[in-house]
Amino acid sequence: MDNWGIIGHEWAVHLLRHALEAGELSHAYLFTGPPNVGKGTLARALAAALFCSEDERPCGNCRSCRLVASGNHPDLFWVQPESEAGRLKVEQVRELQHHLALTPNMAAHRLAVLDRFDQATPSAANALLKTLEEPPEFVILILLAPDTDSLLPTIVSRCQVIPLRPIPIPEIARALHTRWNVEPEKARLLAHLSGGRLGWAVRAATEPDLLRRRQQRIEEMVALLRAPLTDRFRYAAELARDPEATQEALELWTGWWRDVLILATGAEGSQKEGESLLTHLDQRSQLEVFAARCSPAQVAACLRAIRAAQDHLRRNANVQLTLEVLLGFDLPAKADAGGEIPPAPTSISPK
Ligand SMILES: [Zn+2]
Repeated sequence: MDNWGIIGHEWAVHLLRHALEAGELSHAYLFTGPPNVGKGTLARALAAALFCSEDERPCGNCRSCRLVASGNHPDLFWVQPESEAGRLKVEQVRELQHHLALTPNMAAHRLAVLDRFDQATPSAANALLKTLEEPPEFVILILLAPDTDSLLPTIVSRCQVIPLRPIPIPEIARALHTRWNVEPEKARLLAHLSGGRLGWAVRAATEPDLLRRRQQRIEEMVALLRAPLTDRFRYAAELARDPEATQEALELWTGWWRDVLILATGAEGSQKEGESLLTHLDQRSQLEVFAARCSPAQVAACLRAIRAAQDHLRRNANVQLTLEVLLGFDLPAKADAGGEIPPAPTSISPK
């Protein structure tokens, strides 16, 4: 066990540690992977290891390590879009370039992390390209993004790509229990819900609101499936006002319908006792009702429709129109979702 303190991603830590010890770090890295999978944590650990003044790097105790941990190290620059749904702007890249042109303050290097670089505007991406082409000798850049497809090929080709994959569910459950003192049953549920993203699981363990919001969104969706078109359109209009909540809802609905598909195709039946393929472990009875009522083909079509809506939104399609098409025409009609499920509340609106 090394002292980087990273759970999962052993190969990536191994690779970076060896490059650091051999003095062979690249000038630019691109860490890819889904949100909250650990890209930022790994970048911060590399910064601490790079700046640490002790032999066993990172020691976690020296002044440099503590400055990295508190986000105050004068040679570490962290650039990200100013808001959750915002873009990373060219002015931010220019300001960073100004800092990176100056010699390091405390350390032998200056390290910059460009978080959510897939959200960089084209001019911001092009501006950074200049630094990637001719980086100052002492500069190391780390770009974070969900995947390589979301960036310009000219950017990707100048970085060493480190793809971070979701961490195995049992490993997350174990870490939640041993490091964050989450009781085993809850740790198991959060690990499944996290889809292998430790950062999400830890947030959910410490922010009860996150789980409450998830529960509410699921209830809203199930209610919508039984609701007439007028209610669905009204919900689409209300949800569309908040693009971030829209994304979050679509992500959640994808996971929920994937669970229905797992049950509808009988894939869950072949799992060993105590193991489950489901994400939404706590929704099992409701998922089973839908799995019995919809054919696998219907559920698959539903998943395709949600994915298409996500694709459209990524390409800046009109949010309300996209949601109206999805909720009005692509999700199963009232008849498919009726039966034993209790009737819809009189008014459904995004909370
Ligand atoms: Zn240290």
